[in-house]
Amino acid sequence: MNKTYQCLLGFIFFLHPNFISSQDVYGLVIHGGAGTITRENLTAEKETAYREILNEALKVGFTIIENGGSALDAVEATIRIMEDSPLFNAGKGAVFTNAGTNELDASIMDGSSLQAGAVAGVKTIKNPITAARKVMEETWHVILSGDGADHFAKEQGLAIVENTYFHTKRRWDSLKKVKEKEKHGTVGCVALDKIGNLAAGTSTGGLTNKRWGRIGDSPIVGAGTYANNETCGVSGTGQGEYFIRGNIAYDVSAMMEYKSISVKDAAFQVIDKLTDRGGSGGVIAMNRIGEIAMPFNTKGMYRGYLMNDKNLVIKIYND
Ligand code: ASP
Repeated sequence: MNKTYQCLLGFIFFLHPNFISSQDVYGLVIHGGAGTITRENLTAEKETAYREILNEALKVGFTIIENGGSALDAVEATIRIMEDSPLFNAGKGAVFTNAGTNELDASIMDGSSLQAGAVAGVKTIKNPITAARKVMEETWHVILSGDGADHFAKEQGLAIVENTYFHTKRRWDSLKKVKEKEKHGTVGCVALDKIGNLAAGTSTGGLTNKRWGRIGDSPIVGAGTYANNETCGVSGTGQGEYFIRGNIAYDVSAMMEYKSISVKDAAFQVIDKLTDRGGSGGVIAMNRIGEIAMPFNTKGMYRGYLMNDKNLVIKIYND
């Protein structure tokens, strides 16, 4: 290799250190919603079913990253697994609005470019997280909503379903017993890939018995989802109105940026603030060196992580 060529390569690597070094730490953290989840109200069979899907979702995302795929690809694929399961309040298992319809929200953010995409109030998109990514990559917008978003997804060739695809008996019964509206089940993922990029995504059916047309925090960048390689990736779940007013996901990142505190301290302090304001929910967060925080102020939160040390952790209750 001649000197000029060597110099040129050195310069490129200086500009893009990520090209040459594969990270020591990579992996992902997920949640499947926070709420009144206790040992008393979750049967052993249900618990096993939840653990199985969380396990599968973690493994699918991890395999993508381990094979050199991007954090974005991992976030999208992981969330799709949970969207396709009737267990979670996202995709197939979405809750009902007060009008008896299902209206779904989702967002995704790339921590390396601060690009983001979201869909809100969609009724026919089988996997809203994929539509959110298309908005990010194929348009110059951040959020598309309602019929316009459904139309866009169809144009993009995504899987389209009848709104009845989202009708599950369990969620219909929840609508009838409106008192169950505190139960959540939103899904989210934060991934860190081998070149040190973070990405985050969130997908939900919203809150049971929400007014039709209501949009929650999940498609709002900074409220339900945020990712910035300089700080962390975050996905939230809980009472969306509190998450929007508190800019919860961005607040975790801002606390790290402005106060130079750890991802754990930032995430826990943000959930403390949420508690003080009377809101309920939780977040998952991970920084660029793979440190994870999963605080919540509800009885439980489906959550787990799988990092390159191959230690797969899944937790549900508040212990
Ligand atoms: N945050 C979601 C919303 O308010 C609901 C949830 O996370 O359970 O739409």
